[in-house]
Amino acid sequence: MKEFKQFINGKFVKSTSSEMIKILNPCTEEVISLVPTGSVSDANEALDAAKNAQHAWKSLTAIERAGYLNKMATVIRENRVFLAETLASEQAKVMGLAQVEIDVTADYFDYNAGWARRIEGEIIQSDRKKEHIFLHKAPIGVAVGILPWNFPFFVMARKIAPSLVTGNTCIINPSSVAPNTVMEFAQLIEKVGIPAGVLNFVCGKGSIVGNALSKSPITGIISLTGSVGAGQKVMEAASINITKVSLELGGKAPAIVCADADIDLAVKAVVDSRIIFSGQVCNCAERAYVEASIYDEFMDKVTKRMSALKVEDAFSENNPDMSSMVSKDQIDKVEEMVEFAKKEGAEVLVGGKRSARFDKGYFYQPTLLTNVTQNMQIIQEEVFGPVLPVMKFGDLDEAIALANDCEFGLTSSIFSENYNKVMYACDELEFGETYVNREHFEAIQGFHAGWKKSGLGGADGKHGMEEYLQTKVIYAQYR
Ligand code: NAD
Repeated sequence: MKEFKQFINGKFVKSTSSEMIKILNPCTEEVISLVPTGSVSDANEALDAAKNAQHAWKSLTAIERAGYLNKMATVIRENRVFLAETLASEQAKVMGLAQVEIDVTADYFDYNAGWARRIEGEIIQSDRKKEHIFLHKAPIGVAVGILPWNFPFFVMARKIAPSLVTGNTCIINPSSVAPNTVMEFAQLIEKVGIPAGVLNFVCGKGSIVGNALSKSPITGIISLTGSVGAGQKVMEAASINITKVSLELGGKAPAIVCADADIDLAVKAVVDSRIIFSGQVCNCAERAYVEASIYDEFMDKVTKRMSALKVEDAFSENNPDMSSMVSKDQIDKVEEMVEFAKKEGAEVLVGGKRSARFDKGYFYQPTLLTNVTQNMQIIQEEVFGPVLPVMKFGDLDEAIALANDCEFGLTSSIFSENYNKVMYACDELEFGETYVNREHFEAIQGFHAGWKKSGLGGADGKHGMEEYLQTKVIYAQYR
């Protein structure tokens, strides 16, 4: 069984805490690895290492720093199947999707490396004679990236790539639920030859390691992807030193299906989006609003599609649609929410319980709910599982009001062939992303950012990279 160590200051070191966390394969419930619980002193060691390495790192040219990112992309591609298998085994992501995550991660490093020659400042006209006002973009210093378990490898790159290319050093704290693929990447870093201290990996609980990293005066920016609760804790810790935060938090994405939509396309997109990775995705469609005149047809087609989904072991060669949920905690939560919805009057059209086909693992059936109302928990709170509640609406204004009536504002979608309706909805929906006539899934060159409780700041593209830059103004008077 694999036993991981911390990666601090260019070396694999044991944690000062001797306790280890057992990582399970969710499909089989077998222990597959041990990772350190991590300690405050591990976090402090990494902070010192990152601080000490930062000046030399920022003094390299951007294109030299980008060279390391390109090498990271190369080692990922050289190990793509091994990394996908590691990912599939630690979190029950079906192999096809696990492979996509690994491949997109390699692309993400290359994409960010491409920004090296494009990071630009500005020159502003001065009110004084013989003066230039220069707007410089400088690295902030030490960047801390705290990861969720659901897309640990990709989100790792979301933190590392923009921070390093802009001249920050970086500390990664992977989730204790699924740290293996990230820690395997740490082992590949040796091949990249990145200078010691520039990139560090400290395992351990958020409440201990994440908290120590967040409240340190050394930290320049904390980028967290996780739940609203973790975001609030990070903001609290960051407030001690007024440290910058970038938060990618939960979602409750609505999908609006209008009567003039291509119904087959909408059915496919909504179901695919809802059940990808067993529904454990922040941006996937979590509730559907369907125009009354097509409701019956839509429900009939969704029922057929959801009933036909293949739920298998993540390594099945049967091309499964989904697999086990990540943990007992997650399946317990989903089960509890569905049971509560039933008590509140929801009717189960498909699924609605754990799968009885498996002796081991945390398999929940794809679940379709009707007879739900806007004030129910299942419509208002994030359900991180393959559960789709569907409601009817009368007109588009009503659908938009229902969609916006939520504390989250991450993603949303609309299905309609009417350009005017679509543009109107895009203007009115209070979400960081709106997908038109397609499933929910963002592009690496876009900007992934939530409104309301879904987050602060954002990731990806030019604007995501700018999060890691401090703007400095220089008033240059000459004679
Ligand atoms: P989580 O909040 O349980 O944990 C996320 C990370 O925060 C973990 O690494 C955890 O150790 C850390 N953490 C917890 N408490 C902390 C503290 N006090 N200080 C510092 N760090 C702390 O979330 P999760 O269960 O891993 O992931 C699922 C959640 O993440 C869902 O709500 C999902 O919507 C969200 N998510 C959002 C996005 C996005 O881009 N908006 C992407 C993926 C997941």
